Amino acid sequence: MDLPAVNLPARVSLARLPTPVEASPRLGAALGLELLYKRDDLTGLELSGNKARKLEYLVAAAEAEGADTLVTCGGVQSNHCRATAFAAAKRGLRAIVLLRVVDPAHPPAPEANVLLDRLAGAEIRWVSHEEYRRRTEVLARVADEARAAGRRPYVIPEGGSSALGSLGYVLAMAELRAQLPAAWRDGSLTIAYAAGSGGTGAGIELGVRLLGWRGAHPLGFAVCNDEAYFRATIAGICADARRRWPALPEVRTEEIAVDDRFIGPGYAQATAAGLEIIRRAAREDGVLLDPVYTGKAMLGLAARAAEAGGLPGRRVVFLHTGGAFGLFPFAAALA
Ligand SMILES: *Cc1c(COP(=O)(O)O)cnc(C)c1O
Repeated sequence: MDLPAVNLPARVSLARLPTPVEASPRLGAALGLELLYKRDDLTGLELSGNKARKLEYLVAAAEAEGADTLVTCGGVQSNHCRATAFAAAKRGLRAIVLLRVVDPAHPPAPEANVLLDRLAGAEIRWVSHEEYRRRTEVLARVADEARAAGRRPYVIPEGGSSALGSLGYVLAMAELRAQLPAAWRDGSLTIAYAAGSGGTGAGIELGVRLLGWRGAHPLGFAVCNDEAYFRATIAGICADARRRWPALPEVRTEEIAVDDRFIGPGYAQATAAGLEIIRRAAREDGVLLDPVYTGKAMLGLAARAAEAGGLPGRRVVFLHTGGAFGLFPFAAALA
């Protein structure tokens, strides 16, 4: 990988890399695109998806400071919490995951990612939506409790979306660029991805600039929150990263492209159109998308492909960030 020298921190190996780049056999053409999938859903099985790349840096930092417990948070079906639970299991650490639910007194059935969190031995703490809004404080309190109980906790923010976690996607951009056909490296292309907590977007924005990759146009599709929120969040993570690793490039808020028109009713809530594009990807390309993230990103990409000037060209790399376990809570709606 031709990544300019930035002196990135140490990482542990958790993701199966490089992930493949595959042409879409049919769906891309049906959308009028030359479409490639970057299969980051294949970073692993238990540790699948984009969180595996972030955790390589986060777990290395936790271990370097002698931590024995990873503490993190997410929605009830959080892929990040599940990946963290398995990262902990693989490294001989413990995990405490704070999962957001409507009523902590009546937690949901252990299905999909919740089942996997349990299997991996994570300690689950149910938190209300109201507590979750104060998650930084609640994470710190849980870490204090763990410390009082003689453990050495390391707090990972929501989605692993800190400056450190985002470095996983700086490396991923170098990996992707090296895998593309020469014509794709030099011409104009869109890098489409789902944006949830912003760390992936931050790594992509930093990575393409660090590589001097002029033709690459990252385009995030929001799965919650609006465009202004994501531009500010992604720019904030990038600025943080640049403070810690000054060789990283500057990313300006106004340069960050995020489309927030495909969220539907809200986070982890699907629309009929969103479910339909998941069926199409499965049937036409043999690829599993998910209702919470990648389905919304593909729906957005399909819409942009049909709009005049919706994309800077016809070439698109769709970053498949994983999330397949998130299909199961939608079984009734999808079947
Ligand atoms: C977490 C997640 C995302 C969003 O990534 P962020 O870095 O949080 O923006 C996208 N897709 C899947 C499947 C995820 O689990």
